Amino acid sequence: MDQKFKTRFAPSPTGLLHVGNARTALFSWLLARRNRGVFLLRIEDTDAERNLPGAERQIVEDLRWLGLDWDEGFEVGGPDGPYRQSERLEIYRSHVQRLLDQHLAYYAFETADELQAMREQARQARQTFHYPRPDPLPGQDDARRARQAGRPAVVRFKMPDRDMTVSDLIMGQVTVAAAELDDFVILKDGGMPTYHLAVVVDDALMDVTHVLRGQEFLAQTPRHIALQEALGLPTPAYAHLPLIMDMKGRKLSKRDGDVEVRAFRRGGYLPEVMVNFLALLGWSPGGDREKLTLEELIELFDVARVSRTSAKFDRDKLLAFNTDAAAAADQDRLLAGLTDYIALNDTPLSAADETTLRVLLGANKGFRTFRDVDVKSRPIFVADEQIEYDPKAVKKVLARNNGDGYKMLAELLAELKSLADSQWSTESIEEVLDRLCQRHEVGLGKVAQPLRVAVSGTTISPSIYDTIFLLGQDKTCSRVARALRLREDGAG
Ligand code: GLU
Repeated sequence: MDQKFKTRFAPSPTGLLHVGNARTALFSWLLARRNRGVFLLRIEDTDAERNLPGAERQIVEDLRWLGLDWDEGFEVGGPDGPYRQSERLEIYRSHVQRLLDQHLAYYAFETADELQAMREQARQARQTFHYPRPDPLPGQDDARRARQAGRPAVVRFKMPDRDMTVSDLIMGQVTVAAAELDDFVILKDGGMPTYHLAVVVDDALMDVTHVLRGQEFLAQTPRHIALQEALGLPTPAYAHLPLIMDMKGRKLSKRDGDVEVRAFRRGGYLPEVMVNFLALLGWSPGGDREKLTLEELIELFDVARVSRTSAKFDRDKLLAFNTDAAAAADQDRLLAGLTDYIALNDTPLSAADETTLRVLLGANKGFRTFRDVDVKSRPIFVADEQIEYDPKAVKKVLARNNGDGYKMLAELLAELKSLADSQWSTESIEEVLDRLCQRHEVGLGKVAQPLRVAVSGTTISPSIYDTIFLLGQDKTCSRVARALRLREDGAG
């Protein structure tokens, strides 16, 4: 293959990495990897007021967490840096100057209020607002005078007065009528470029061949093409990815759950599951194949198979994927995942060492996310007094039938106390429980559930043997004794 593929991801650090943007990054990455091309990361931070401190770092970390590495760009360097737009201002200004010199751009001096009033006037006249290009065009001297008079001075691009067609790899031929396009700002007052100018200049100077981005940018692309023509820059291939909707067909929003990669990461999802799920948002390999590794995705990905119709963000499916993947993963993989989860969360599990975490993973088999492991296992790591007894569980498991559960606890306490320190193992605990089952001719539930309620306050805990083992003899006995006092306290 002769043509070198170069794709890029160009996040703005105005917030955390949104799942929609993560999909853009993934598809761009896949296209580059599939074609042995280059994937580039550029930070688009020219909208200074909207930049969020810390967002850049977290976006970069979350991309790495997803496994989307880049060959060139931010932090890794390359021939066309710097890769943070705020460090490239001179480059943008020189391009703007070229356009000014060729009378392809001009100064404009309206304040925000004046522009607002002009828009309002157009709205009332039921017309699309078009910035009225002045004749003759204001020049450098007018800009100086305006600035002296305290007015803002921006630079606007002379948008050609003709319909513009985008040849999109996904959306096809999309024509935007001249009436929809007007002279737009390319350099703001104060000398910052707008997104339109910076993106066009950078994609060209960085030799990007394929621009993948969300469909919401499609309406802007004619402006970019016009700028490329005016600056004599090549037009990359464009592929606009379909919108992502919630299950009700509305724009995906925080209202119905997490929308940021970081939130899913903190929620205890595996990155390979996230990637698999994101890949299916608008793309599929055909057939009913759904579970795919990163390597398989690289092998199968094809922009031509990306659909034009909007994708559905199915949270239940994501959760089911994660449950299946967690069940299939080996313990080292899960340990790494759980460790990342703990590092990002405020959880008592941070006190656990590696051996303990391994026991927990085994004791929570069937878990959906690491958060499940966390929530279920927390009682093991908190102080005895922090265990809160769920009244419903106490009633049902301990108090019912004349306090059968309490009686079982009293016997359990005696048995567990009598185990020597050296006998504290999951096997000996299992033996104790078995013995009681036999003595009373009951199933394990009748013994395990009271014990579970006594040590965790609820009827849900990881495997009872592991829970009791990790808790240790002292804590187990003191919690059982505490649960027994509930009866005296009249809790049921
Ligand atoms: N900085 C833009 C964003 O974060 C990128 C748009 C583009 O890919 O051209 O949405």
